Amino acid sequence: MRQLCVIGVGYVGLVTGACFADLGNRVIALDVDEERIANLQKGILPIYEPGLEELVRRNVRAGRLSFTTSYAEALQGTEFAFIAVGTPSAPNGEADLQYVAAAARSIGENMSAPLIVINKSTVPIGTGDLVADMIRRAQPQPIPFSVVSCPEFLREGSAIADFMNPYRTVIGSLDHEAAEKVAQLHVPLRAPIIVTDLRTAEMIKYASNAMLATRISFMNELADLCEAVGADIKEVAAGMGYDKRIGPAMLDAGLGWGGSCFPKDVRALAHMARANGLTPRLLDAVLEINHARRHRAVEKVSQALGGLQGKIIGLLGLAFKPNTDDMREAPSLDLAQAFLLGGATVRGYDPVAMENARRLLPAVTFCPDPYSLAENCDALVVVTDWNEFKHLDLERIHAAMRQPVILDGRNIYNPAEMRALGFTYIGMGRGYTV
Ligand code: NAD
Repeated sequence: MRQLCVIGVGYVGLVTGACFADLGNRVIALDVDEERIANLQKGILPIYEPGLEELVRRNVRAGRLSFTTSYAEALQGTEFAFIAVGTPSAPNGEADLQYVAAAARSIGENMSAPLIVINKSTVPIGTGDLVADMIRRAQPQPIPFSVVSCPEFLREGSAIADFMNPYRTVIGSLDHEAAEKVAQLHVPLRAPIIVTDLRTAEMIKYASNAMLATRISFMNELADLCEAVGADIKEVAAGMGYDKRIGPAMLDAGLGWGGSCFPKDVRALAHMARANGLTPRLLDAVLEINHARRHRAVEKVSQALGGLQGKIIGLLGLAFKPNTDDMREAPSLDLAQAFLLGGATVRGYDPVAMENARRLLPAVTFCPDPYSLAENCDALVVVTDWNEFKHLDLERIHAAMRQPVILDGRNIYNPAEMRALGFTYIGMGRGYTV
């Protein structure tokens, strides 16, 4: 049984720890957040992720997964230490490395035997070398170690399945022995393993996220054109997706992307380009197009209602995407703020993110279900494409509303059917009307 530790028990760290434990390893998961660890020791998870609670419980019960706040305890007898701490945006767009730096220092101070440090956090190119330097400086006496990059590609909402069935495992290190050991750890995932150098591995992660964000911004730019010329972006996407060179994923026009990865990663990549004397023209446009989607949505609602002042607007969905409670850079935050600024009253409903949303949106009223949300509303905005919104009793919603205006920010409904039900239906890029 291999022993490893995971540093940071957030969306990535907790999934990584629980999944490696489930694969038969002994995992100690560490966090500096004492409340998080105390709760996890009682079986209370800090995040919502489908299937995670059961996975954690099963592996804790089997004695393969435990939690601590002590680096010394986590590193005792451990062969691999995964860093999975946050790398949020600094105000100038670059990645804030303070948590990675703190983790590196703590590893250096507390390691007592040779160690392979595996960085799972998304970090600017060159951070692996920086981490190695920090560990070395923090060590009271020299103990050999190696830093390997192994970026994580899981998506919140399907994190366990993504972790267990990745498209590929990327391993970045010029230390062949360390790279081989990390590769062996990932063999049970049965995915292609790409071994490259540290910096290239770090770049693969940013390049992948930036490409996915670019596809969506591309479709969003076309969505406006579809509206102007009378075409339907959803059908355009379907028609494009059959082309194997394009593929159907990540072609969804709407309110644009948010979350804890795309915005900060595109910004960080653009910052890296600028810091190296380059002009990231495409990345800047990708960010700008995405940002404009929120304004476009607010404009559409305002136009349909003849202004926002005194109107009641309901946000269907608050999390940045379905099946998560993550509110980081969620479009709902921008929309709520803009509607409030325009003089509207804003209500919100989300199946799992309301507790997190409450802290971020104190001026919003939260409703226990979509039907009470719709009560007397002048407009409903589909912000998150939760499955439950696809199967609402729309006649009941229609009857409850003061004005039956729906802005379908995720294009989940059929425009003709919605209009037949009596709604003023507004999609995002759906110019085609029968
Ligand atoms: P998160 O904010 O959910 O979790 C980070 C955790 O690290 C927190 O629990 C925090 O308390 C802990 N932490 C901070 N400093 C620490 C320290 N010095 N020692 C120990 N623990 C510490 O973050 P996340 O969403 O899991 O993201 C982690 C990294 O993974 C980021 O770099 C992110 O870009 C990357 N990533 C995230 C996703 C995702 O979907 N969330 C997917 C792929 C990659």
